[in-house]
Amino acid sequence: MAVIITELCINCDACLQNCPVNAIADDTDNPTGANRYYVQPEKCVECVDLFDDPQCAAICPSIGCITWDMPFIKEFDSHFLNEELYKLCSKDGIVKSPAFKEKKYRKDIPLSMRGVGKEVQVEPEN
Ligand code: SF4
Ligand code: SF4
Repeated sequence: MAVIITELCINCDACLQNCPVNAIADDTDNPTGANRYYVQPEKCVECVDLFDDPQCAAICPSIGCITWDMPFIKEFDSHFLNEELYKLCSKDGIVKSPAFKEKKYRKDIPLSMRGVGKEVQVEPEN
C-alpha cells in the first residue's frame, strides 16, 4: 500500500470501478465491518507502472476521502496487522502481510505524507 479510505466515503462505487487491480471492496464486503469502501492493501499497488496517479483518488467525489498510508513493505508489517484498520487475506493459513509479500508503492511520496489523514490529491512537497 497503499491508500486508505476514510469515514468521508459516501459509498458511491466509483473507485471500485476504476481500480486496475481490483483491490477495492464495497461496504458490504468491507472485512473490518466499517460502513464504507475498503482498499485491500495486500492488493493495492498505488497504481505504480499503470497510471500516473492513484485512479481511485482521481475519481473519488469526496475530497479528502482517500489518503496515503504507509508503504506495504516489511518495515511496516505491524501497521498492516492492526485489525482496527485492516483485515488482511490469508493463504494456506499465512496472513498476507508485507512479510508475506511486499507491494509496489510510490517512492516519490515521502513518509511525511503517509499515514491516515494525508489526502492523495495533495501534490508531494519538494
Ligand atoms: S491506488 Fe490504484 S491500485 Fe490502489 S486501490 Fe487505488 S486504484 Fe487500486
Ligand atoms: S469513490 Fe470515494 S466516496 Fe466513492 S466509494 Fe470510493 S472512496 Fe467512497
